[in-house]
Amino acid sequence: MVRVALPVPMHRSFDYICTGPACVGARVRVSFANRDLVGMIVAVGVEPDIALSKLKAVDAVLDEQPLFDSVLWDLLHFAAQYYHHPLGEVLMHAAPAALRKGEQASYQAIRRYQMTEQGAQAQAEDFKRAPQQWRLLQLLQQRSLTPSELREQDISPSAIRALQDKAIITSVDALPQLQPWAYQQAQQGHQLNQEQAVAVAALKQASERAEGSVWLLEGVTGSGKTEVYLQAMAPVLEAGKQVLVLVPEIGLTPQTVARFNDRFDVPIVALHSGLSESERLQGWLHGRDNQAAIIIGTRSAIFTPCPQLGMLIIDEEHDLSFKQQDGFRYSARDLAVKRAHAQRVPLLLGTATPSLETLANVEAKRYHHVQLSQRAGQAQLARHKVIDLKQVRLQHGLSEPLLAHMQQHLAAGNQVLLFLNRRGFASALICHECGWVGQCARCEHPFTVHQQARNLQCHHCGAERSIPHQCHACGSSQLITQGLGTEQLEEALGQLLPEYPVLRIDRDSTRRKGQLAAHLESAASGEFPILIGTQMLAKGHHFPDVTLVALLDVDGALYSSDFRAAERLGQLYTQVAGRAGRASKPGVVVLQTHHPEHPLLQELVNNGYHDFARSALAERKLAMLPPAASMALIRSEATQAQDAEQLLQAMANTLQGSSEVIVLGPMSAPMARKAGRFRFQLLLHSASRQALHQHLRAKRSELEALPQGRKARWSLDIDPQDFT
Ligand code: ADP
Ligand code: ZN
Ligand code: ZN
Repeated sequence: MVRVALPVPMHRSFDYICTGPACVGARVRVSFANRDLVGMIVAVGVEPDIALSKLKAVDAVLDEQPLFDSVLWDLLHFAAQYYHHPLGEVLMHAAPAALRKGEQASYQAIRRYQMTEQGAQAQAEDFKRAPQQWRLLQLLQQRSLTPSELREQDISPSAIRALQDKAIITSVDALPQLQPWAYQQAQQGHQLNQEQAVAVAALKQASERAEGSVWLLEGVTGSGKTEVYLQAMAPVLEAGKQVLVLVPEIGLTPQTVARFNDRFDVPIVALHSGLSESERLQGWLHGRDNQAAIIIGTRSAIFTPCPQLGMLIIDEEHDLSFKQQDGFRYSARDLAVKRAHAQRVPLLLGTATPSLETLANVEAKRYHHVQLSQRAGQAQLARHKVIDLKQVRLQHGLSEPLLAHMQQHLAAGNQVLLFLNRRGFASALICHECGWVGQCARCEHPFTVHQQARNLQCHHCGAERSIPHQCHACGSSQLITQGLGTEQLEEALGQLLPEYPVLRIDRDSTRRKGQLAAHLESAASGEFPILIGTQMLAKGHHFPDVTLVALLDVDGALYSSDFRAAERLGQLYTQVAGRAGRASKPGVVVLQTHHPEHPLLQELVNNGYHDFARSALAERKLAMLPPAASMALIRSEATQAQDAEQLLQAMANTLQGSSEVIVLGPMSAPMARKAGRFRFQLLLHSASRQALHQHLRAKRSELEALPQGRKARWSLDIDPQDFT
C-alpha cells in the first residue's frame, strides 16, 4: 500500500497497492481516471482510505531512492502549503520535464557533433553556396558541440544533415564522465574597493558560520555587484561547496555564463530555456551528484538539488520573472530564503533597485544589508535631465532638445540608447474619419500594427490579422496609426539621422534562438551608434560606449491603478538610466514627460532610487498595502461574464465573516477580457499573513465545492505581483 501525490488539481493523495519495494519520495507510474500519470509516493504502509478490493495497483515504481533530498522535500511541502497548491502538482513541477514524464533519473548519452578527418581538409571555396555549412565547420573546428549548442548558433538541422551525408562531420553519443571536481581559479579578480571588500568579508564570515542568513547587496548600477558575487563565491568553491545562482529570465545570456567561466575553472551548469529535455535532466543530475560546482539558472533552478550547497545568489532580486505567473504561482526568491535557512547557507540578494518587500525585511532586521554606493573603477554616476513635453513638437516621439542631445553625443563618437517599452510599429490602427479602432474581439484591446511582419497582432492573446485597407465601420480608406512603437522609431531614425546605423532590440528582433546574444554583442561592440530597446535592454547589460540614455514615454505608469506601478517605474527608470556612462565616459539620462512636476519623478530624478524606495515603503505602510499587509488574489474566467462573476460572488460570501481578513470584490479584472474569456478578481487582504492563510485553509474545501465552480475556471495567487 502506497499513498501517491499526483499532478492533478485536487488537494488530496491517492492510495494504490504496491507489492515490490517502494520508498517515500520515489516516483510511480499509475493509472488514474483512465490516464497514465507519474506521481510521487508520500507515504507507505498506511491504512487505505477505501476498501482494498477497490484499490488499483501501481504500474511501476520508477525510483529506488527518493528523487529529492530532504531539504527539497521539506521545501516543496512548505511551498504546497504556503501557496495552497496541490502537493502532487508542486512535486512534479519541481522535477525536470523528463522525470515528470517518467524517464529514468540517470544519465543519458548526449550527442555531440565533431569534425571528421575529411572535414579538416575542407576548403572555404567548396562552401561558397552553403555559408551555413561552412560556419558549422568552423564552429566544430574549435570543439565538439551538442544539438542545442548548434541551435543556439542558429545552425539548421539541414546543414547538419548535409555535412553528415558528406561524411565531413559525424556524431557520437556518449555518457558523461562522472568525476569529482577541484577548485581552480582561472583568472584574478579586481582589486576590491572599500565597500566591495566589506561585503565580501561579511559573506565569508556568514558562510563560515554556516548560518542561513539573507544579505541584501544594494549597489547602484555598475557598482561591481557581480565582482562581489565572484569573490564571495571563491572561498565557498574552494571549500568544495556548490553555489546556486538565480538570474532573471532575460539575464541568462552566454555573456553572463562566460563571466563565471572566465573566473573559475570548475564545472558550471547553465539551466536555460534553450536546453533539450535530456540536457536539462543532465544539468539537474549534475547538481544532485555534485558534478557541477556552479549552477546558474532562471526561476525553476531553485529546485535543483545541491547536496554540497554553500551559497545561494539571486541577481536582480526585484525582477518579476522570479514569480511564476500561472499554475503553481511560487516566488523563487521567497523560496530561496526558506532554502537558505534550511540548508544553513547565506543567500545574497543583489540589485540596484531592491523590491519594497526586501527593504521591509531589511528594516525589520530579518535581512542584513550591505551597500555599494559608488560605481566601480573609473565610472561615474550619470547626470539626469527632465524634458517637459507640454506644447513641444515631437518628431516620432522625439523632442527637439532630445534630438539635440543625441546629435551631440553621436558626433562625439558615443552611443545613444533610446528606451521605448512598446514593440511593433504602432499601438493602434484607427480610422481618421469615424474613429473606428482595429481591435481584437477576443480581448477587446487594440491590435498592435506590425509593419515588418505586415500584420496586426494582439499582444494579449497572440491573434494575428492582415492589415485592413478600409475601415470596418465606415469603409473609409483613411486609416492612420497611433502610438509610437519601436519599429516606427527605428524607421524614423533612419530618416532623421541617416548617417547613424540603428540596432533595435525587442522581442520581435530577437525571436530566433541566439539572436538576443548576437544583438547584445553587437550593441556592446559599439558598431551601432543608436540602440533602441524595450525593457529587455533595461537589465544588467554593459554597453561601455553608451553615454546618453533617453526614456521616451513612461507617463502611463504615473497614473496606473496598480499600487506597485510606482515601484516598478522607479526600478525601470533606475535600471535603464544605469546603462549610461558605465565605463570611463560620463553619462546623461534624459526623461521626456508631460508631468515633470510629478512628485514621484522629482524624488527619483533628484534623490535616486534609494530615497525614493524608502518613501514609497513608508506610503505603503500608511495605506496598509504589501509588504505592510498580506494579499491573496482569486482570479476567475469564463466565456460568459456572469459565470466568472457569480463564482467569485459565491466565494466572497464564503470568505466573509473573518475579523482579520478583508474581502474586496468581485470586480472586473483590469484586463477584463482575454482570448474570448471574461475575467474577474477577488482580493483578500489582511494585516496578518498568518490569519490570511488560516482563513484560506479553513475555507478551502468549501470554496472547491461551490457549484458555480463548474462553469468557470479559477485560481489562487498568494502574494500576487501582477494584477492584470
Ligand atoms: P553591477 O553588476 O553592479 O552592474 P558589474 O559587476 O558588472 O556591476 O561591474 C561593472 C564594471 O566594473 C565591470 O566591467 C567590472 O569588471 C568592473 N569592476 C567591478 N569591480 C571593480 C573594481 N573593484 N575595480 C575596477 N573595476 C571593477
Ligand atoms: Zn471609419
Ligand atoms: Zn487578443
